[in-house]
Amino acid sequence: MSAPTLETWRLSAREVASRVRGGSLSAVEAMDAGWDGPAQAWEREVHAVAHTDRELRQAAAEAANTKGPLAGVPVLVKDNLCTTDYATTCGSRILAGWQSPYDATVIRRLRRAGAVVVGKANMDEFAMGSSTEFSCYGPTRNPYDLARVPGGSSGGSAAAVAYGLVPVALGSDTGGSVRQPAAFCGVFGLKPTYGRLSRYGLVAFGSSLDQVGVFARHAGDVADVYAALAGADPFDATTRPTPAPDVSAWDRGVEGLRFGWPENLWSRGVDACIVDALDRAAAALERAGAVRVPMTFLPGEYGVAAYYLVATAEASSNLARFDGVRYGHRGAASDLVSLYTRTRTEGFGPEVQRRILLGTYALSAGYYDAYYLKAQRARTRIRHEFAERFGHCDLMLMPVAPTPAFRVGEKTDDPLAMYLSDVFTIGANLAGIPGISVPMGLADGLPTAVQLLGPEDAEPVLLRAARALEVDGDRAALPRTHTTEFAWPGKR
Ligand code: GLN
Repeated sequence: MSAPTLETWRLSAREVASRVRGGSLSAVEAMDAGWDGPAQAWEREVHAVAHTDRELRQAAAEAANTKGPLAGVPVLVKDNLCTTDYATTCGSRILAGWQSPYDATVIRRLRRAGAVVVGKANMDEFAMGSSTEFSCYGPTRNPYDLARVPGGSSGGSAAAVAYGLVPVALGSDTGGSVRQPAAFCGVFGLKPTYGRLSRYGLVAFGSSLDQVGVFARHAGDVADVYAALAGADPFDATTRPTPAPDVSAWDRGVEGLRFGWPENLWSRGVDACIVDALDRAAAALERAGAVRVPMTFLPGEYGVAAYYLVATAEASSNLARFDGVRYGHRGAASDLVSLYTRTRTEGFGPEVQRRILLGTYALSAGYYDAYYLKAQRARTRIRHEFAERFGHCDLMLMPVAPTPAFRVGEKTDDPLAMYLSDVFTIGANLAGIPGISVPMGLADGLPTAVQLLGPEDAEPVLLRAARALEVDGDRAALPRTHTTEFAWPGKR
């Protein structure tokens, strides 16, 4: 067996799996390439990983199914996915040291396909945030500029893929938490159709919005991981019973596809470099044979308001289970009410407390109709709006976020500014439709990206378009790890 070269860490998941299946690379070598290569120096600066362990990694790699579609592929998973080998803490003090007795369904399917779970990724506490600054383990930083955020809440997963620790990572997307960090870190990030990936073992935030999502540096890797994970699960009654769409034709091109172009959405308030990325993406899709369909769309502000009511309402209910009795941290107290109060005020950080308060208020008897019900009506309207537009096109181009990665600390004291940065991603969660963030190269040293949205089960179409942008002549999507010159952290 050949010794792992320094370059093994740059390989795609496809290439790793094919070498492992063919016997020219072992799963242990594939895993070590990330952990012992240049990535180690990056990790000290970026802090993408919340929990890992050399012996557990080694054991997982040795036990890998070397015949599976993801044979030997190292995967980092967000700390809100239950794993039997690592603690599952959602970046929160309240779950400190909590060990799940079972694997989430997506983790079981990863392992069955041959993937090696190498650890847990840092995240905003309970997936609430857009910057990975709200973790009890401290912030993750953007590998392209350590003074900037990697996006969130799955920032650890995105950053680790971007700097080359792993070719693939899993996150969760309730309002953009896979697509936005993917955009900030220059990698692909897919949020599937609601109900296609099981939520069993994903610690719930907003159950009607949450989906597990996939990060990778190559469109084909996203397709392979989606194929391994998607499908009905008897443990999650919200999974769809029908077979998941077949994504094996991800490399088929976009000839004849119609893409929506709702330019009214980014006519103001969106950075010039993002508008430029959208123009380049549209031109590339047209060169590849797709057809642009100009249209208008609802302004996103409706979505932000509706989302922050629905998501907080569901969170306030989901997070009631963390009471000091069943999981993790327990505050010292002599009676039950102060046990709950102490546990929850000590265990939850300020952003989570804010969301629980907001959600409880929105659901309270006197305000339910005014807030929660009205938000549900807005949600229905947004669904219809998307459905109507998808009568005229196969997919839609959209920004992921209005700006590239912002500075660490820039929005932590202004929750509303942080919430508004989700304006382009939350629509897909409210409507249950799939979306993918596609890297479009650097502007002034920072990654730019575009988002592709489609109707339910449009994953095959989204992946074909993502692939078309990846291979386009001007190398629009070029992750840092593809370049031969390797810049060390802190260079900027
Ligand atoms: N940024 C959004 C929020 O804070 C989305 C989070 C997510 O998708 N998990 O709620």
